[in-house]
Amino acid sequence: MPFSKLGLYSSLVRGAQALGYTEPTPIQAQAIPVVLSGRDLIASAQTGTGKTAAFALPILNRLGPHRATGPRVLVLEPTRELAAQVDESFHALGKFTDFKSVVLHGGVTLGPQRNALRAGVDVIVATTGRLREFLDGTLINLSSIEVLVLDEVDRMLDMGFIEDVKAIVKLCPATRQTLLFSATIPPKLEEVAKFALRNAHRIEI
Ligand code: AMP
Repeated sequence: MPFSKLGLYSSLVRGAQALGYTEPTPIQAQAIPVVLSGRDLIASAQTGTGKTAAFALPILNRLGPHRATGPRVLVLEPTRELAAQVDESFHALGKFTDFKSVVLHGGVTLGPQRNALRAGVDVIVATTGRLREFLDGTLINLSSIEVLVLDEVDRMLDMGFIEDVKAIVKLCPATRQTLLFSATIPPKLEEVAKFALRNAHRIEI
């Protein structure tokens, strides 16, 4: 199935094509229609399957041409490297669309991240630690979040971040759409899924 048949705006199909993607990978073909429908999703998929575009494309589709009045999308990543990579993917895929994002991770000074937040962003890609630092202040309010992505959750579990993740989930509106990605789904992760997701569609790659 070509990208053009998935229900995405043509600007996003062009973004995918500009990266040399000719056909959706299996997780993209399965996840994109589900995410576009607004349903929660739990997907077991390894890195390398194309899972980033599986959530980034339908999320960018949802953002449409609106300007940010508050952050609408929050993506949580276990490491700063992944946070930076996912933000790059959003920008590469959304090359022909207009949106603003900020990456919040440790190891860099807070100033530029603060300035970006003050200017207004649609998408926040963050590690749990740095996001919690910001949540102690007044610059971020998660009450406008429409889509929450919990990416590589098995790694967050291994790193001991699960209580942080739960605290962040609680700050997002109950009406949000939640997408959970993990290489494996052990019982502990099913608990997190039960806590964070509602009537989720399940995909195993
Ligand atoms: P990910 O699993 O999101 O880390 O993606 C793994 C790699 O696959 C990245 O280098 C992507 O650029 C690439 N990729 C993602 N989707 C496609 C696609 N539909 N066709 C070709 N390459 C892709």
